[in-house]
Amino acid sequence: MGEESFNNVSMDIPSEVLDEIQKNIEDIIRNFDVPDANKMDVIKKINFIYNQSKHLSITDELTGLFNRRHFEQNFEREFLRAKRYGSDLSIAIIDIDFFKKVNDTYGHLCGDYVLRETAYTIQDSFRKTDMVFRYGGEEFVVILTETSLESALIPLERLRKRIEAKNLFYEGKNFNITVSIGLNSDTSKFESASEFLDAADKALYRAKENGRNRIETH
Ligand code: GH3
Ligand code: MG
Ligand code: MG
Repeated sequence: MGEESFNNVSMDIPSEVLDEIQKNIEDIIRNFDVPDANKMDVIKKINFIYNQSKHLSITDELTGLFNRRHFEQNFEREFLRAKRYGSDLSIAIIDIDFFKKVNDTYGHLCGDYVLRETAYTIQDSFRKTDMVFRYGGEEFVVILTETSLESALIPLERLRKRIEAKNLFYEGKNFNITVSIGLNSDTSKFESASEFLDAADKALYRAKENGRNRIETH
């Protein structure tokens, strides 16, 4: 089975079901007529491979952040939960300004370095309960659970300033970058998670239009 089809399989089967299958495999091995030490060895190896592939399937290789697939798996659930219980939920899209210029000026490897540094700064700026994802090329998404617009603006503004102030060094070159951010915290106006996200994306577009290095809200 190639990696492509493996990924498709793990995408279609809910992770609770995969966990259950994994447990059943363990039970089958326990019943094998071989010495216990050997059984434990096999179980340990299978668990290791299972956990490793689970980790890889939700992780962005370059930055170590959660990937877009994991975002899709979590976002709708959080949106529906917030709608059902009337709890606060914020979604922020963070996009590096003029990132193409970084690649064009300093090279693609420098671009990768900037992505890793930015990912680290973003991850480091939010609570453990907030989830940070690499959504695409130079775009990141943060799901802030139980967080109102006012409360989301505090860490986002802090992040924006941190990135602006951060000195980047690559092969003797010294430079800075900025980010633009689109924020949406009003789930009540939206029927679906994708519409809720789309409005954050529109706010991001306005942040770009209004001069970049800024936050715009829905
Ligand atoms: P804007 O301020 O409007 O967002 O401009 P921008 O240049 O950031 O946006 P644009 O969409 O024109 O360019 C995004 C660039 O991101 C183009 C693409 O080559 C680069 N990119 C996407 N993924 C990667 C990656 O994994 N590594 C590197 N080095 N560059 C990437
Ligand atoms: Mg972009
Ligand atoms: Mg950009």
